[in-house]
Amino acid sequence: MSDTARRAAELSHLRDSTFAKGDPIPLPLTMAAIYHAPGDATGFNQYGRFSNPTWAAVEEMLAHMENAPCVAFPSGMAAISSVFFGLLKAGDRVLLPSDGYPTSRGVVERYLQGFGVEYDVRPTASYLDGGFERYRLAFVETPSNPGLDICDIAAVAKVAHAAGALLIVDNTTMTPFGQRPLDLGADIVVAADTKAPNGHSDVLFGHVASRDPDIITAVQDWRKTSGCIPSPFDAWLVHRGLETLEVRFERMCTSAGVVARRLQHHPAVRSVRYPGLENDPSHNLASAQMERFGFLISLVLDTEDKAEDFINGCALMQAATSFGGVHTSAERRTRRGDAVPPGFVRLSVGCEPTEPLWEAIKASLDRLGG
Ligand SMILES: *Cc1c(COP(=O)(O)O)cnc(C)c1O
Repeated sequence: MSDTARRAAELSHLRDSTFAKGDPIPLPLTMAAIYHAPGDATGFNQYGRFSNPTWAAVEEMLAHMENAPCVAFPSGMAAISSVFFGLLKAGDRVLLPSDGYPTSRGVVERYLQGFGVEYDVRPTASYLDGGFERYRLAFVETPSNPGLDICDIAAVAKVAHAAGALLIVDNTTMTPFGQRPLDLGADIVVAADTKAPNGHSDVLFGHVASRDPDIITAVQDWRKTSGCIPSPFDAWLVHRGLETLEVRFERMCTSAGVVARRLQHHPAVRSVRYPGLENDPSHNLASAQMERFGFLISLVLDTEDKAEDFINGCALMQAATSFGGVHTSAERRTRRGDAVPPGFVRLSVGCEPTEPLWEAIKASLDRLGG
């Protein structure tokens, strides 16, 4: 049995040993700014900005999936920012992907630069080229969003560590069920649980995972001091979402494989990227470092108008930004300013049964003509 399968099976049973007769089996939601706190102020909940039992429960679940301590945040960006603000100081230099989620670069560019942190960017597909001397932190996103290029996490970790840099991996596109960057040598994982982990598109959430206790303490201190804390209700919803992540992720990845394969042969489609396709430039590396090939597909249609028509004309597709929800959704990424061709579409395959979903996608493409 794989370690991932065992962890997935145990996920809904982590609290079993704490149950007394008559306790609710689903997680109780604790909405509390203050707690009963007489005497010395250590060893129990004191104040809502410091700790909360519902956060602790979702962090326990995330930690079980990551096999590492985790700290929860109110969004993916809050998690990413906590690492930057918690670990970097003036004079440090960071390396960022040129083709990753643009807001991660934005934090460094717009805020940290002003505090004396320098940065460079590099494409994900050639991230190893140039080495990591001078960097305090190397940040990778693999597969990158939205281009789905990949870099070799183990190789980057090795070279970065030899140069004295820490490696941080944004694992949002894969979740711990699809890729385990800490096992490949990364020091820190950050992720937007807004996406597949919550899965129902009703909450923003994020987490930081690390096996280095100093890093965990630094991001916990940042959360407590900055006040960048998750809502207990959001934590409760993410806890519930995580209980079904494995089954949703399984369906989404399986359908994405089928859809990507068929898209390649549709006359309206110019090109398709999906790491699970044997002829994809990412395929060999993806097979080596990912447990699944994910649920994101990128495809290019002839024009911006056709891309828009394809999305809006598909009966089983939401025109929406973001990804990883139960609904299949898609976005023409030039409208977000990504450096991609005009007809570029990022498709997030949802939980609909595969064949009806393909029929709907095909029907919408057929209308566009070749
Ligand atoms: C969505 C996303 C984020 C940011 O997450 P939010 O919850 O929207 O703050 C960060 N990285 C990647 C790769 C993302 O897709």
